[in-house]
Amino acid sequence: MVNRFLDHSLSVKELDEFVHHIEECPSCRDELETGFFIRKVMDELDDKVGSGESLDILDLLEEDLRHARHVIYIDRMEKILIRAAQAAGATMLAALLAYLLANRFL
Ligand SMILES: [Zn+2]
Repeated sequence: MVNRFLDHSLSVKELDEFVHHIEECPSCRDELETGFFIRKVMDELDDKVGSGESLDILDLLEEDLRHARHVIYIDRMEKILIRAAQAAGATMLAALLAYLLANRFL
């Protein structure tokens, strides 16, 4: 699963499981950091080191994880909105959308 995460080929559901697992499982987190490190070094070593820039590999990994959490969040929001629409009908949905827009959630 680590490799498929690094390839960006996990489904949203898999991504959700993976991100949560990584937060609780140090050995998978280590595997992720190692795999990520190797890829980033191979991808970016030449230009970055050549230009004297330092490599903040763990920052880059956190960025990927943040992006994954954002994708999961958006997917969850869509499902919540769909459920809200089904449960409460158009009037409530309009109120909910107005609330979300006012609070910049969308
Ligand atoms: Zn694990």
